[in-house]
Amino acid sequence: MSSLPTFARPLWSLGAFASLAFAVHALVASSEASGKPGRAEGRPAEDTQKAKHREDLAKIGQAPRVPVEPIRRVVKRATLKGPWAYVLPIDHGVRTDESGHGYFRAPRFHGEHNGLDLLAPVGTPVFAACNGMVSAGQSASFGNWVRVVCPVPKSLAKGNQTPYASIFYAHLSRTDVPFDSWTHVRKGAGIGTTGKTGNARGDNIQPHLHLELIIQSSQRAALAERHLGRDQSTVAAAERFFDALTATCLAPNGFRANSGRVGRARRADPFLVLTCLSSDKPEYHSAPSTLDSWSRPWSQLYSAQAFNVDAGPRAFLLASR
Ligand SMILES: [Zn+2]
Repeated sequence: MSSLPTFARPLWSLGAFASLAFAVHALVASSEASGKPGRAEGRPAEDTQKAKHREDLAKIGQAPRVPVEPIRRVVKRATLKGPWAYVLPIDHGVRTDESGHGYFRAPRFHGEHNGLDLLAPVGTPVFAACNGMVSAGQSASFGNWVRVVCPVPKSLAKGNQTPYASIFYAHLSRTDVPFDSWTHVRKGAGIGTTGKTGNARGDNIQPHLHLELIIQSSQRAALAERHLGRDQSTVAAAERFFDALTATCLAPNGFRANSGRVGRARRADPFLVLTCLSSDKPEYHSAPSTLDSWSRPWSQLYSAQAFNVDAGPRAFLLASR
């Protein structure tokens, strides 16, 4: 029962930008949610984008499943609480609509999706994933956003300095934290509600929480993080974090993204991280009828040998007793 490393056990158990940088940000991110081509010349046509989405999804569907290796250590306790909390009270999976797909690294005209779009009706409460600092802001592309900055749990913090995560929540209808200043926040605290602000306004874009997770080498660096879409630089702390996550949680549970990708530069796949670190992920349910056709379950994108990715490890463990 205690054979798993400390962190793996609880497996669910803007301020003013410089104008130039802001312009770049707005341009790069302007079609983040829609996946539509920007104004720049030479962008692929929208039809081409949709074709790419279909191709990409087909590839994921065909991706080989996790090689079958025996799981030596299985989580047996269902009541342990993770160091982090899940970010929503419901789970309707990943947004996939006429406008594009919301999975991590889905194709976008500027490259790949930097976050994960969690489908959720407008007004769904959004929770802080961890104990740390919180601040809110607003931008043309991301609408109302909140950022939570917190230390990476000790078991995943390799190296001399504790790395910090910057967790970015976008397109919110309402934010419940101060704008442009940092205050303390407790994990699980309400920080706003989901919405369709910024470039998620379009009728063919279903409501969702855009969630991004960046690993930085220090609290100072994480607080200064701007989540600029075009900035794909990485840091050693992020690479070490991916290695630690893989060794401590993903490999022992046969848990992986079918794409085989844990991160993109310093950005981590939020689903992998939250599954490994947070308690109380709700079980997946199709969204209410007006949204249900836009809801993609996790099992289409992820697999795990030790638990059902849609239900989450907790439900799996309860059922197996
Ligand atoms: Zn998104």
